[in-house]
Amino acid sequence: MIFGVKNVQTELGEFSSEKCVACKDSYTYRFIKATRFLVVFFINLIPLSSRYEAVCAECKDTLAVDNKTGRKIAKANFNKRRLRLAVFTILKPAVAAIVIAAAVALPLTLRGLDTSPEAIKSLFADSEDGIYGVEDSGGNMIAFVQVENGVNTITFYDDVSVLVGEPGADGSFKLHEYRQEATNDAEQPDGLFLVRIPDNPGMLVDRFGIPVRTYYYDSANDTYGYSRGVVDLSSISYTADKVTYPFHYFTSSSDEPTEYVYVLYFSGGRELLAQFIPKLPTGETNQFVSLTVTDIVNGRDQTVTQYDFDDNMKKMAVQAGITQESSVQDILDFLEQYSPAPSYVTAYTYYKNTKVPSGISYSMPDANGDMQTVTQALTVQEKNGYYIVRAENQSE
Ligand SMILES: [Zn+2]
Repeated sequence: MIFGVKNVQTELGEFSSEKCVACKDSYTYRFIKATRFLVVFFINLIPLSSRYEAVCAECKDTLAVDNKTGRKIAKANFNKRRLRLAVFTILKPAVAAIVIAAAVALPLTLRGLDTSPEAIKSLFADSEDGIYGVEDSGGNMIAFVQVENGVNTITFYDDVSVLVGEPGADGSFKLHEYRQEATNDAEQPDGLFLVRIPDNPGMLVDRFGIPVRTYYYDSANDTYGYSRGVVDLSSISYTADKVTYPFHYFTSSSDEPTEYVYVLYFSGGRELLAQFIPKLPTGETNQFVSLTVTDIVNGRDQTVTQYDFDDNMKKMAVQAGITQESSVQDILDFLEQYSPAPSYVTAYTYYKNTKVPSGISYSMPDANGDMQTVTQALTVQEKNGYYIVRAENQSE
C-alpha cells in the first residue's frame, strides 16, 4: 500500500461478560482495539480513529464497544502483565525466513527536545478530543497522541536510537522502533507502558533517510527480524554522486526475486532512487523496475514522483543499456526520451520555514490516464519547540 487507509487490529486478550446474544452459548469474548491509519509508503502514518470490539469466542459475532466502555473493560480485566502476554501471543511472523538483527543501540537525543513519552503526553493536558501528531522542526514524527474524554494515550511513539556494534554500523544508521501504549488504563504506577506496534515494529534508516531494513516482530522470541533489507551494512557503497544498496528480500516463494539493488542518485535539487533486479528467477538480468524522483527545494521535499515500469518500459531500459552501473545522466536521458507515465505523484506544503508538512496531496492516473488528486490538509501548531499536527476533516 502506498497511500490510503489501513485498519490495524490489536488483540488485547479475553474477558467474560454477558451471554452472547448471537449464539446464546458463550460468555467469553476476545477484546480487540481497531485503529485506522492513514498510510503513506507502507508506513502507518496518522492514526485517524480507534475503537474497541468484542468478538464472541464461540461464534465470532462482533460487537462494537464504545471507547468509554472499552477503557472500563481494559481496566477491569487486563493488568499490565497479562496484557503484555496477550499482545505478544497474537503476533505472527510476516514471512517464513527469519533473520534476527544483531542490533545494539545507543539512545539518541533529538535536538535538545525532551522526547520522553511523559513529556509528549504533558503537551496535551488541556487539549480537546482528537488525534494529534507531534513532530520536531525537522519534520520527524515523534509520536501520536489520542485525547478522548480527558484521557491521553500514545498510539504511536518513535523510539530512535543509533545502531552500533555490528559490521558497517558506523553511527549513521538510526534505528526506529515504533511503540504504543498497551492500554488506555490511566492507572499505571510504573509510568507509561509501551509495547511494540505489532505489525509495524520499525525500520533502520541510513543518513539519507533510506529505510535499509524493514522490521517485523518475531513473537516467539520477543525480538525483531527483517523481511527485506541490507544484510551487511558495510556493503552499501557511498560515493559523492550515488549510493548503491544491495537489498535482500526474505521470501517463502521461489518465484520471487530475492536480490534487489537500489541506487540513490544526487542531481542538483533532485534525488533519484532507482530499483534494479540483477537476476530474475526466469533468467533475465538487470531489470530496471522502478524509479522514485524527489524534487527538493530548500532542503524540503516538494514533489515525489513514482514510476513503476511496465514490461514495455523494462524492455526499453534493457535496450537503452540502463543498469545499476548507469550514471544519473543516463537515467535522466532515459526518462526524457521515453517519458513514462508516473504511477503517482505526492506533493507537500510546509508550515512556515520548518520541515513539518502542512498539507499532502496525492495524484494518480484513473482508468483513462487522467491524473486525479486527493489532498489532506494538516493543522500545525507550535508548542514548546514541538509541532503539533492534526489532520483536518478526520473521517470516521
Ligand atoms: Zn456467540
